[in-house]
Amino acid sequence: MTLSKAQEQIINSIDQTATRTNWRDWKWQMRHSIRDLASFEKLLGISLGEEQRTAFEKTVEKFPMSITPYYLSLIDTEDMQHDPIFLQSVPLPQELDILKGDMADPLHEDQDSPAPCVTHRYPDRVLLLVSNTCPMYCRHCTRKRRVGDKDTIPNKSAILQGIDYIRNTPQVRDVLLSGGDPFLLSDDYLDWILTELRSIDHVEIIRIGTRTPVVLPYRITPELTAILKKHKPVWVNTHFNHPREITQSARTALDMLADAGIPLGNQTVLLSGINDCPRIMKALVHQLTRNRVRPYYLYQCDLSEGLSHFRTPVGKGIEILESLIGHTSGFCVPTYVIDAPGGGGKIPVMPNYLISWSTNKVVLRNYEGVITTYKEPDSYEPTFCDRNCESCDLLLKLDNADEDKSIGIEQLLSDYDQTISLIPASNARHSRRKTEETEE
Ligand SMILES: *Cc1c(COP(=O)(O)O)cnc(C)c1O
Repeated sequence: MTLSKAQEQIINSIDQTATRTNWRDWKWQMRHSIRDLASFEKLLGISLGEEQRTAFEKTVEKFPMSITPYYLSLIDTEDMQHDPIFLQSVPLPQELDILKGDMADPLHEDQDSPAPCVTHRYPDRVLLLVSNTCPMYCRHCTRKRRVGDKDTIPNKSAILQGIDYIRNTPQVRDVLLSGGDPFLLSDDYLDWILTELRSIDHVEIIRIGTRTPVVLPYRITPELTAILKKHKPVWVNTHFNHPREITQSARTALDMLADAGIPLGNQTVLLSGINDCPRIMKALVHQLTRNRVRPYYLYQCDLSEGLSHFRTPVGKGIEILESLIGHTSGFCVPTYVIDAPGGGGKIPVMPNYLISWSTNKVVLRNYEGVITTYKEPDSYEPTFCDRNCESCDLLLKLDNADEDKSIGIEQLLSDYDQTISLIPASNARHSRRKTEETEE
């Protein structure tokens, strides 16, 4: 692999004696991360105006900067203001605009934390935050409130308490390692965490969310992939936002992961001025799938403080899905989600394909605008479900079938539960009632 001109210039300005081998060493990259304006200007061979400088300094006081030399080298210095790499990594004064409705922790992750390092929101899976730092501080980070906080790795005892919670909570079958970026941990430490989790019988799968293939691809080493393979099934979700990020180095990293048998997914954040365009998104999902990465989620930008300039209307996401569904391979289409403020979790949003409905027919439209009908069965006999599987005609031959009570909308649909409505805790009409009765 040869270095680009920009990379040659950066490596020489960092250290005259550094080699290409240094460049591909992730620890070297981390040691030389760019955290101040002077280094930024020097390494790119540019200088910002006085006004830009003052704005920059003010912004990093609140939201610090950190960029790997590798990611910095992808910036197009000819057209920085429109460059997706620049816009994702370099502080802009708009980050200090806090709008009405912005929140420090919109997803209530701190409140839904039953144990250190754990966010438990959904019935069967938890988030385990094992690292407090990232190779690059994304300007659009949803956990912006914590970026650069202490920049430390949570200590072993905190992580152990989190793992203990998982061990004592049998319904958890899926653990997501996140942070920060779990791949900033050393191989040994990661191996230890994975070993601990694997020793818990009810943990079926482990997922790791990482941006290293995008901003620090040299972190993906044969040693790391061997560890992941040893603890399979481990799924890895990465975070590419723009086709320009899929470089030769990134492709090599993805190849190594895929060759080790790691299923790969990608989570993209919809960002104004960066990827809010159906053509860019289509190019992105095509390049991802060519590299064996399945687009998983497209996120509506959260309501975290400092992100207002990145947000698009929800209609932009729907327009993008409209341009993908039917037009390209089904597995190229991510699920577009809004992570509900207040901790409601991810809510999928889609164009409407179901146009109308009668008792035995539905009217649908396809991606081309063809309006069509589907005739439903005249004689469908629903099976009444009282959860007494012994006496049911359908055979449930599964020892480990779901025993949990249904919750939410699923509960409303079930036959065996008498609940007829779900009522918000703060419903005014209900609080006027004298009794505790909340059923309609
Ligand atoms: C996103 C998320 C998950 C995982 O959700 P999936 O839809 O299964 O990918 C789990 N816990 C929390 C707190 C999350 O934010």
